Amino acid sequence: MIAESHIDPNKLIMPIFVDETAKKPVPVQSMPGIYRQTVESLPDYLGQLVESGVKSILLFGIPSEKDEKGTSAYQEDGIVQESIRIARKESKLTVIADLCMCEYTSHGHCGILNGEDVDNDSTLESYGMIAQSYAKSGVHMVAPSGMMDGQVGFIRESLDRSGFHNIPIMAYSAKYASAMYGPFRNAADSTPSFGDRRTYQMDPRNSREAMVEIAHDLNEGADIIMVKPALPYLDIISKARESFDAPIAAYSVSGEYTMIKMAVDQGFLAPSAIDESINSIFRAGADMVITYFAEYLSKNL
Ligand SMILES: [Zn+2]
Repeated sequence: MIAESHIDPNKLIMPIFVDETAKKPVPVQSMPGIYRQTVESLPDYLGQLVESGVKSILLFGIPSEKDEKGTSAYQEDGIVQESIRIARKESKLTVIADLCMCEYTSHGHCGILNGEDVDNDSTLESYGMIAQSYAKSGVHMVAPSGMMDGQVGFIRESLDRSGFHNIPIMAYSAKYASAMYGPFRNAADSTPSFGDRRTYQMDPRNSREAMVEIAHDLNEGADIIMVKPALPYLDIISKARESFDAPIAAYSVSGEYTMIKMAVDQGFLAPSAIDESINSIFRAGADMVITYFAEYLSKNL
């Protein structure tokens, strides 16, 4: 009765990887218990999630074709587009789709290159096309994660122009250049072939900068702002909660999952460490948490 925060399945979002190159679900080595799904396995897997009490999903795609310009990210029969249609047809889940190009480019960067640098403006054009193709496939919400300047405003305009003004944007506003993404890159096959993403992700030593980024995204029309990762950045979530009234999503990333999951599996930590860690993110001020524990938590609450 007096608890100040709760874990509520309505507030959890389960990330899902769908792999166009796989014939059957493939376990992600770096993330015990997590599988790359296939288009064929997706309906059953979604059924299992619904059964567990999961309400919302965040889709990531692993395409069979990658090129310099990441063109498979906005094809009508692309892996995410196909997955959105399946999820909408087979379930009542809220379907959110990650919007970036790093899984689709041969070099693994989040946009189109000009020399060795990502070219912000031509990348925005592609982001607009991806957003429109997701919306046409029936997505409920898009989540741009590439951290290009002006991406939220550009995507908002692209959606509005094509009649999708009712599709909200969950913006990865404060996304840090974090080592915590390591296991995900193994899952999504998206390690950059050269360089890193530090020119467009935030410096882990900074906090005020995060508030500036969030304010930008809200000005550009973001409906939900996001802090990523979550556990090492609880202070950022808390500060954002105090500074902004918009809904805040926190992404408890693959590294957070793997650290806790492996320690629990080994018996070094009690399973309540999972609840405690996710609850701490809500306590810090998040309205919703994207976590690979969403299925586990929804089932075991
Ligand atoms: Zn990316």
